[in-house]
Amino acid sequence: MSSEKCPFCSEGELVRRVEIETYVYKELSVTVDQPGMYCSNCNEAILNGDDLKETRRAIHDLHAQGDGFLTSAEVKQIREKIGFTQKEAGNFFGGGVNAFSRYERGTARQSKAIDILLRLFNARPELLASFHFDGFVSVIPEYSGTWRPFLSIKEHSYMQVVGTTSESSSDNLAYMPTANDSEPQFKMVVNG
Ligand SMILES: [Zn+2]
Repeated sequence: MSSEKCPFCSEGELVRRVEIETYVYKELSVTVDQPGMYCSNCNEAILNGDDLKETRRAIHDLHAQGDGFLTSAEVKQIREKIGFTQKEAGNFFGGGVNAFSRYERGTARQSKAIDILLRLFNARPELLASFHFDGFVSVIPEYSGTWRPFLSIKEHSYMQVVGTTSESSSDNLAYMPTANDSEPQFKMVVNG
């Protein structure tokens, strides 16, 4: 079996294995299983892109926590709680359709402003009712079920979603059509 000489000490050999590594940031630390090529002599390591991918999210979260930002898992949890798909969240908060996919995989960090808004909507999801999405729809605050502010039913411009009758189906939305974005005219409940 051939092996590579270590470029750091020129004596040891690089062997592929997983080491338990502890990454430290500010007062925090995270311990991960870090794959890589490790030297048998000096313990230096060479990590390639795939090796780093394994632990990137844990390191991203360590830095996020150290800097007072939501972790990738917390972003996902709040986004789901307030009823947005990743794409809808990117449209609503800005950043583009792939923004939340990046935040939740730990390949990019949300801005401070988005971080604060997510915390705010997490604590007070009914505040989403204050927003009209480009003349589409918004949620009525009195509705006490699952919040699902909807950006994707563009064919229902000027309808106001008052809630869903089931957790996951967007066919069961209850809406309130409005005339030209004015006051709601009447209420309609759709049971898919
Ligand atoms: Zn070495």
